[in-house]
Parts: sequence; structure tokens; C-alpha cells
Amino acid sequence: MDQESEGTTVVLQEAPALAMEETTAKQGGGGKKRRSKQQRRSEGRKARREYRLVSYAELPEYMKENEFILNHYRSEWPLLHAFLSVFSWHNETINIWTHLVGFMVFLGLTVWHLAQYFPQVAHLIGHLSWPISKVAENVSSNIGDVISGAASFMQASPGLAMAAAAGVGPTTRWPFFVFLAGAMFCLLSSCACHLLSCHSHRLNLFLIRLDYTGIAVMIVVSFFPPIYYIFQCEPRWQLVYLSAISLAGAATVYALMSPRLSAGKYRAYRALLFVGMGLSGVVPAVHAAAVNWHEPRRNVTLAYEGAMAASYLTGTVFYLTRVPERWRPGMFDLCGQSHQIFHLLVIAGALAHYGAAIVFLRVRDEMGCPAR
Ligand SMILES: [Zn+2]
Repeated sequence: MDQESEGTTVVLQEAPALAMEETTAKQGGGGKKRRSKQQRRSEGRKARREYRLVSYAELPEYMKENEFILNHYRSEWPLLHAFLSVFSWHNETINIWTHLVGFMVFLGLTVWHLAQYFPQVAHLIGHLSWPISKVAENVSSNIGDVISGAASFMQASPGLAMAAAAGVGPTTRWPFFVFLAGAMFCLLSSCACHLLSCHSHRLNLFLIRLDYTGIAVMIVVSFFPPIYYIFQCEPRWQLVYLSAISLAGAATVYALMSPRLSAGKYRAYRALLFVGMGLSGVVPAVHAAAVNWHEPRRNVTLAYEGAMAASYLTGTVFYLTRVPERWRPGMFDLCGQSHQIFHLLVIAGALAHYGAAIVFLRVRDEMGCPAR
């Protein structure tokens, strides 16, 4: 409400100026040009005043989320202005771009894998598949082991050749693609939330719920590749674990639909729900480690998943403690705030899990299921 009345004040202040301009216009032909120039200038001034960045104290109550970020807020901007603000500096710019770049990385990986696995897709995107795989190769050489696993994902390995000779074909890829799709959904809904939730209270509520749904979806889909491939020869365990985590995800989303829980003070409660979902993975992980105790690549997957858990948990600590901005309020408004660190760690965790998923898949490709 405060913001609305402020906006009205700005318009009222401009009214006498516009009236004067109109009088000038009536005064003669030469005045017409002057008037349009003045009008443009006045409109520009008005836009600057209405859509300037504001301080925490000036925010409507529903946008007061982090009292340690003092300035550079966009508040109740029109959708188009909010959308275009992806290219300008404010306190959400890095939050938007970290997950936008993460989304593009996962999109690139998805297209690349689709093109390699489904000849129809490769055929469909034709000449596109070559540059995309080149880009993915470049990315892999930069990010290191996590992505480099992808470089040989579909290439025939000696193990796979042996498996093919033994009559074992490549296993189904859908659980792997479910994970990639869920990761993209999570990253994109986070981008939309950080970019557009400054528009209005209604959109803010909707996008925050979408963001929470994205996180829950990311956690649920992360279970798909490991559970599916590890327990591929024991479908009842696939069913038990995948339905349990899907139900937990649905219950979490349902609980977080209450607008009250979006408030800043429930930050710890929300984090607890997500951490609880993630940590429930310990049960199938222990089960899987016991079943595959002698599998030589067990330690590789455990290292990847350990890196994932460490990234997500450290990210949650930053999210909860709001360090470093709580130590120096105002100093990290644009760059270095806890939420940006949290975003980077989410991407690191997702990439580590992607590396593990590649290993799970390859192992199952080579081993198939023993005949019963
Ligand atoms: Zn975020």
C-alpha cells in the first residue's frame, strides 16, 4: 500500500509540469517541438523516479526477507521492467545469473546426451549437434572430472564392448533424463523467482512457491538415477525408495504452499524440510553400499555423492546463517551475499550428482542384470 501511494505522489508532482508544457504548446508552432522534447524528458524523469532502486526500509512488508541486505532493491516494478532488469545491477543480479548459467549448462548437457543417445534427435537437430557437443567438450575440460565423465558417457568403453559381446545392451536412460529435466526446472524456476518476484505481492507468492517446488523436485529427481540403476535388478526396492521420496516431496510442497511459511522467520523450518528430504537418501545409500560392497567403482560414486552432500549442506548453512552480510550489513548487497554462495553450491552439488549418475549408468550398462 505504501508503495502505491508513493507512486501516486510522483505522478501528482509531475502534473503541474505537464500542464505548463501544454500551455507552451498552445503558444505556437515552434512550441510543439519543444513540448515533445520536454515531455520526453519529463517522462524519462518520471520513469527513473518510479523505478529507481530502493532501500530495505522502503520495501513493502512482504518483500522484507533479509534485513542485512540494505539497498539496491527493485520494488513493485512493472513486469517488463523487472524482466529487463536481468541486464542491470541490483541486489538480485548475481542470484539470477548464477542459476541462469547453471540452467544453460544443464540444457547443453541434456541436448548433447539426447543427440548422442537418440539418433532421431541427432538427425533432427542435424548440424546443431556438432557445435553443441564441442561446447560440452570445452566445458568438460574446464570443470574437470565431474563433467569429463560425460565426455565418454556414450562412447563405447572396453567394458561396454565386452558387455555387448555378452549380450548385455545399454540400459534405459529415462531416469537419467528425469534428473536432468528436474535440475533444469529447479534452476529456471529459481531464476524466474529472483527476476520477477519484485513485481507484486501476488506474483511474489506464486514464484516463491514455484521456487520451493523446484527445490523439492530437484531433490526427488536426484534419487532417480542412483536408485533406479543400483536396484535395477530388484524392482521392489526401486518402487519402495522412489515412491517414498516422491511422496515426501509431494508432502513438502503441500506444506510449503501455506503463504505464512514463505516469511523470512520460517527460513529454518523450510531448510529443515529440504535437508530432511535430502538426508533420507542415507537409507538407500547404506543399503546400496552394502549390496555393492565389492563393486570397484563404489568409492568413486561415494566420493561424488559425498561432494554433493557437502555442497548442499554447506549451501544450507550459508542460507540459514546469512553470512557474510550479517557481519557487515550493506557491504554485500550486490556481490558476495549468502544467497549467491548458496546458489553456486547448489550448482556444484548438482554437477557432482551428475558425475555420479554417469558412473551408475555406465556400471549398469556393463553389468546388466544376472539371469535369475
Ligand atoms: Zn535462490
